[in-house]
Amino acid sequence: MIIIGFESSCDETGVAVACTERGLLAHALHSQIAMHREYGGVVPELASRDHIQRILPLTAEVLQKAGLAMGDIDAVAYTAGPGLAGALLVGASVAQSFAWARGLPAIPIHHLEGHLLSPLLAQPRPEFPFVALLVSGGHTQLMRVDGVGHYELLGETLDDAAGEAFDKTAKLMGLGYPGGPALSLLAEKGDAARYDLPRPLLHSRDLDFSFSGLKTAVLTRLKSIEKESGPLDSTQQADLAASTEAAIVDVLAAKAIKAMKQTGLKSLVVAGGVGANRHLRAKLQAAMKGLGGEAFFPPLEFCTDNGAMIAFAAAERVKAGLADLSGDSHAFTVHPRWDLQDVCV
Ligand code: ATP
Ligand code: MG
Ligand code: FE
Repeated sequence: MIIIGFESSCDETGVAVACTERGLLAHALHSQIAMHREYGGVVPELASRDHIQRILPLTAEVLQKAGLAMGDIDAVAYTAGPGLAGALLVGASVAQSFAWARGLPAIPIHHLEGHLLSPLLAQPRPEFPFVALLVSGGHTQLMRVDGVGHYELLGETLDDAAGEAFDKTAKLMGLGYPGGPALSLLAEKGDAARYDLPRPLLHSRDLDFSFSGLKTAVLTRLKSIEKESGPLDSTQQADLAASTEAAIVDVLAAKAIKAMKQTGLKSLVVAGGVGANRHLRAKLQAAMKGLGGEAFFPPLEFCTDNGAMIAFAAAERVKAGLADLSGDSHAFTVHPRWDLQDVCV
């Protein structure tokens, strides 16, 4: 079965085709980052309008890349939530219209399930069961994954997400938007031991996280450096970036390791935009080796939002018998807030 998938939950328009037998066939992506940069964050109305403009050209592009015609498609998948309501509606309405016009089933996909299964797009592919560390712009969760549709929440952030912690501290440091990648690039040249920053909940017994205090700690540190020696020079900037990154990565790694020990599982899967962070990847790889296990990551291009993970998740749900293929429902309902438990078996 060949499935076309649409992603439009935030600031990336993604379209992809996946096959239940052959996996991902092709994908196309447009990121709106440059458009939102001058506002310092995603402007929902601009995001929706841009999705409308991009989604059909991307669809044509992806079909051409896959060497397919509209008539070859057997089912349509789309991100139904969580995300920005107006942005989600673009993907949902295009997908449902396509499905209705061609008499095809439409498969709503939970965005986080897309992220969660994206490491299965890499080679080697992790085997179930595994622990997933989902670290994106809006979420930070540890999950036990026993199979497609079998997700158990082990712990999550009590306030900011890890990606948010990267972005907000980067903004304080004047690194622009989105700050995560910029901060981690700068951190590569810095000394992470120079500034002592808090590692919230590092030693708590649970698997929860808390990152909101880090912003205040970085701001306080910034102000004290400026008071002492004026505006930060490039070495101080790099050292503060490295110290901030280390504080976030240390907590993520410690809790991921705790989850491995608690569950006794040997495979750790990392998904979401922060999974692109090189320091986090290296630290988790080394830690898993020490535990006699292995860490798996999605291909870099599929860490942040994309259509590939949505078409792929739909193909996996079809294979697991978890998709409604009756083709009866063409209502384009979206769920801006949506608990992953709602799509669990
Ligand atoms: P969600 O999926 O929770 O709705 P999202 O889709 O906005 O959120 P993603 O696209 O998965 O999130 O990831 C974006 C986040 O990843 C941003 O916060 C960004 O700063 C962060 N990020 C991307 N690359 C890196 C990196 N190399 N180091 C640290 N953070 C990074
Ligand atoms: Mg994004
Ligand atoms: Fe995402």
